[in-house]
Amino acid sequence: MNRHNHGQLPYLTFSNLETYPGLLHAVFTRIGGVSAPPYATLNLSYAVGDRMECVIANRQRACAQLGLEMGSLTSTFQVHGLDIKQVWRGDRGTGAYPTRGLPRADALITDEPEVPLLMRFADCMPIILYDPVHHAVGLAHAGWKGTVGKIAVGTVEAMQGAFDSDPETMLAALGPGIGPCCYVVRDDVASLAKAAFTSWQEALVSLGDGLWRFDLYRANWAALASAGVPPANVESAEYCTSCRTDLFFSHRAENGRTGRFGVIVGLSQR
Ligand SMILES: [Zn+2]
Repeated sequence: MNRHNHGQLPYLTFSNLETYPGLLHAVFTRIGGVSAPPYATLNLSYAVGDRMECVIANRQRACAQLGLEMGSLTSTFQVHGLDIKQVWRGDRGTGAYPTRGLPRADALITDEPEVPLLMRFADCMPIILYDPVHHAVGLAHAGWKGTVGKIAVGTVEAMQGAFDSDPETMLAALGPGIGPCCYVVRDDVASLAKAAFTSWQEALVSLGDGLWRFDLYRANWAALASAGVPPANVESAEYCTSCRTDLFFSHRAENGRTGRFGVIVGLSQR
């Protein structure tokens, strides 16, 4: 990943996505916002108990840094499900401001310019997909449920169906999310992961007493590979959100009382 420090807010980009004209993507950190603890400072979620005016100010700062209008941010109510929603220009701005009645979905796809997608994270794995041939993007949110439910595969398939995307030519980026260093799950989750992944030994390490280290990076990487995305086209963030609470929000490390950092992905005319 590359860190950009110019202007008001730092943000990160992935090397494999950075060079495409007309593709905008940014991973924000928790730095540079106005929220008070435990949401300090760049919390982009309306749903964690932070003051709405702080979240709006934070979203305005993030958008200003990217040259976007805040009112264009297009989002969903994230529910740790597997629903994937295609959005069009008519959906532009859905969820930019605190509104009720947002669609419940954990992945968004679009091939329309000027519809920047926003999702929010604190340990769950962000998954960015880009089809450079058809100029289409996807953004997904995968905690353990989305990972074992293979929302990564579902999003690739949704892009195949909607845009005729070929997984062989797609690019993907994973993270920042909680790393295997910090993500311990119980037998129930480990059993689901074993059922979901034939190569589960690469993503699960037994700690004894019914506890396992679960590698969400490795599991989602395997899911993308099974969907036909070449492993060489997938870049993983080198961060663990739980280890790096100086940079990111972490639901686990901060006992559930924290904010959400944002990932924004969008298209312009190329
Ligand atoms: Zn860690």
